Amino acid sequence: MRKNLIAAGTSIVMMGAASAHAQGIQITPAGTTPTTLGTAQNFNGHVAVDIKSAGGSGQHGSVGMVDFAPGARTAWHTHPVGQLLIVTDGKGWVQEDGQPRREIQAADVVWISAGVKHWHGAAQAHGMRHLAIAYVQGGKSADWKELVSDEHYNAR
Ligand code: MN
Repeated sequence: MRKNLIAAGTSIVMMGAASAHAQGIQITPAGTTPTTLGTAQNFNGHVAVDIKSAGGSGQHGSVGMVDFAPGARTAWHTHPVGQLLIVTDGKGWVQEDGQPRREIQAADVVWISAGVKHWHGAAQAHGMRHLAIAYVQGGKSADWKELVSDEHYNAR
């Protein structure tokens, strides 16, 4: 009898701990979210995307680690609230429509203001990886436009 009471008490304590985790802090364990490939509609070249989210975080911001092979890039697009890029590896380019493209490299931090038409991606001869954080408004974090042509990308 005493043994049964102890066991019951233990399971109540464990249930309490589990429900506290579910309500407060949620963890997506490493390696549980599949890597996806950037679609041909929104990207040129080989682009691997690891979405980073836990619990309901995706309602507020789209966060992804994006790995661009040399020459790969996003299509032209805008963000309704803006986007922060944190370059973690390699060398790439970011360009605002009508402005010269700018080189970015590991440890650079880039802010793209709301509504600014732009693209980002790898350099021709270097891969580039960045963490991309785009805030959500009206249920979306980006408005996609036309692809960046090879002629435009390769123009110096
Ligand atoms: Mn962007």
